[in-house]
Amino acid sequence: MTEFDGNDRFWAVVPAAGVGKRMGADVPKQYLQVLGKPVLQHTLERLLEVDAFAGVVVALGAEDGYWPDLPCAAYPKIRVAPGGKERADSVLSALLSLEDVAAPDDWVLVHDAARLCITGGDVRKLIDRLRNDPVGGILALPVTDTLKSTEMGEIVETVDRSRIWRALTPQMFHYGMLRHALIDAAERKLIVTDEASALELQGLRPKIVEGRPDNIKITRPEDLPLAAFYLERQCYE
Ligand code: C5P
Repeated sequence: MTEFDGNDRFWAVVPAAGVGKRMGADVPKQYLQVLGKPVLQHTLERLLEVDAFAGVVVALGAEDGYWPDLPCAAYPKIRVAPGGKERADSVLSALLSLEDVAAPDDWVLVHDAARLCITGGDVRKLIDRLRNDPVGGILALPVTDTLKSTEMGEIVETVDRSRIWRALTPQMFHYGMLRHALIDAAERKLIVTDEASALELQGLRPKIVEGRPDNIKITRPEDLPLAAFYLERQCYE
């Protein structure tokens, strides 16, 4: 029995093969410590809090010597796949590793390793809202700042922000559709920075589900204390 009974089956894919250049650290950002634990361990613990997943695939870099030391490396639900050059290559590699066990209609939730403050509540909300949707969709946040379009450091116009959302993860799509969309984008040499873009290139319109603003992605050094603050605060909710 899981929290999400019925015929649906869910997998999680966690791309964790980036080097995190913008952090300027020796250790890839997914292995930096927050509250005494590596970022990736936090992220996987948060995902596994949701008792929905048949399995979780973590895409790892070829040079990754840190993974075997993580407690979650020994968890039975977790398996690994080789990462690729870009994030989309890592996600596709993880999907291909599920070829023998996943059915085309199974759902896949792709979640960045660097988003350690994801809450079980947001994952459940995404699943509840989208499990009957023909396409799937993503957690996202409406923008609150005024947006400017620029050229050579000068403002050209103010963008209508009412239609603009920031894409977060998890992003939830059917296994078969997502795999096809990522293969097609790679064959056409189109850059996709998230899963929804690959589906959009197929002419599909993924749904938006509003997520929490504390679902931040570790990108710069100052994000580490901010993540620690959010994680601690979430414990008291
Ligand atoms: O670099 P960025 O923050 O956009 O990366 C988002 C996620 O994608 C990170 O969890 C990173 O480890 C992962 N990634 C990957 N393979 C790559 C590049 C990034 O799995 N080649």
